[in-house]
Amino acid sequence: MKAKFPLVILAAATTALVVTQCAPFKKKSATVMAPKHNLQSQGLTAPSGTQLSYSHANVTGPYIAITFDDGPHASLTPRLLDILAARNIKATFYVVGDRVRMYPAITRKIAAGGHEFGNHTWTHPMRPSTWADAPLRSEIQRTHDVILANSGAAPLSYRPPGGSVSPHQKQWLFNDFGYPTILWAVDPNDWKRPGAAVVTQRILSATKPGHIVLAHDIHPGTIEAMPATLDGLLARGFRFVTISQLIGMGGTPGHVAVVTDPKQLTLSFGPGSF
Ligand SMILES: [Zn+2]
Repeated sequence: MKAKFPLVILAAATTALVVTQCAPFKKKSATVMAPKHNLQSQGLTAPSGTQLSYSHANVTGPYIAITFDDGPHASLTPRLLDILAARNIKATFYVVGDRVRMYPAITRKIAAGGHEFGNHTWTHPMRPSTWADAPLRSEIQRTHDVILANSGAAPLSYRPPGGSVSPHQKQWLFNDFGYPTILWAVDPNDWKRPGAAVVTQRILSATKPGHIVLAHDIHPGTIEAMPATLDGLLARGFRFVTISQLIGMGGTPGHVAVVTDPKQLTLSFGPGSF
């Protein structure tokens, strides 16, 4: 694991992490078991007031998080990883489980680059907010397992396809998987393929400190847009962190720390945060 979690995590989370990492990769099964670290199995639920979803974080520095959905892609994701590495930028990848299965080597390369994973379901259904719990939980569990098995790193948050999520789903995603639900503040609509220059302009004009930027690493124009986009954001003074780092900086009810330097992060979200 590439130390995705911040340095200090409460004992419960540390235990959960060990349990998760040591568990053998589950073969496909008709019965989906909730992860062993879920709070409900311990008689716990997220306390009222816990923030379950984010489109931005309230940070005190110029920090932003850029996210890439729907990959891995056979050629575009490796190109993107080179672009990110050349700028020492860490991003968060909301990968699709079935594509992780197809591209395990690229998944490992994402992890090797120091990036963070998020869970974006197994099949990318269009309206998951309308799904019953059991089939959606199965998608989430399979995706969690395949990312962990192929990269050694667990996904740390959930992004619903299309932003489609119900309040009830947010609650069990957090209770059972430790996932906050991550939406976005900046949407360049790059999936409509408006052209690289338009993607760049939209992101540069809309991004503010604490924002979560949405993009997709399966569209050529998005990848073409990234050098100018990332250089433009850096030139404006923004600094890139992963989603867990950004949320950790912003704090949530129950958190006491406001951290402005990612190197000093000591708190994170999830079941171990309270
Ligand atoms: Zn998506």
